Amino acid sequence: MSPMSDGSMPAAFLGHGSPMNALETNRFTAAWRAFGASAPRPRGIVVVSAHWYVNVTAVTAMPSPRTIHDFYGFPRPLFEVQYPAPGDPGLAEEVAEVAKPTSVGLDHDGWGLDHGTWSVLVHAFPRADVPVVQLSIDARRTFDEHLELGARLAPLRARGVLVLGSGNVVHNLRELDWSRPDLGEDWARRFDDAAREVLAERPADAAALQGHPEFRRAHPTPDHFLPLLYVAGAAAAAGKPLRRLVAGHAYGSISMAAYGLAAACPETSEGGPAASLPDPRVVPPADANV
Ligand code: ZN
Repeated sequence: MSPMSDGSMPAAFLGHGSPMNALETNRFTAAWRAFGASAPRPRGIVVVSAHWYVNVTAVTAMPSPRTIHDFYGFPRPLFEVQYPAPGDPGLAEEVAEVAKPTSVGLDHDGWGLDHGTWSVLVHAFPRADVPVVQLSIDARRTFDEHLELGARLAPLRARGVLVLGSGNVVHNLRELDWSRPDLGEDWARRFDDAAREVLAERPADAAALQGHPEFRRAHPTPDHFLPLLYVAGAAAAAGKPLRRLVAGHAYGSISMAAYGLAAACPETSEGGPAASLPDPRVVPPADANV
């Protein structure tokens, strides 16, 4: 069966890691690129980024969202990256409509596209010609509520909308090991493996990963995990698995894994390691907002 046989857009969770991935080419950026290239041209893209983690559920509704450089300690060229994709106020209203009874505020001038969004979209949709809206992650909601909201976004896939989550399956900036740029610690690999199994076999149970013995170590704060629940919710609604598009780790405590729903591209292991982080003597990783 071809991925598009039900006429729906694919969806994906992309592990973004260092924002420097925006400027580099490695096996993860290659996977993002392959995913974007394999998708039919979407009418719009809804992104849930780890970096818009606030006490409200909102969707960007401005016609021209700004490119936000929400990090510290990186080289100047990264601050000069622009991702000038248009917004889509109509799509923002559709998102608010399908999310009901969850109330979604229309953000006309507050946010824009943060680096969780543009660092992956510069590879997945390099022409920046598909409208993009961002949906915030409401920190007040439970994991089950995030998964449910992801499931409510699923009908948009049949309307030509591509749903993207951007975070990391493992994200612990306090335990980075600078001597292991391309490896994961045992505990990180255990959580990564458990996530892979749940996403492949029963994505509707993805919120239960919160109970995994390594969850707190994998996610001292939940912001980089929650975007995964939106994509898992969409997979659960479709009754389909999330297949891994690329596997790997960075600095011991970041998983760079990506997952696709109804994605036409195969898993890849070609290419080099993920991009690096700022020198920790200059900017401590926890202060770099990666
Ligand atoms: Zn991040």
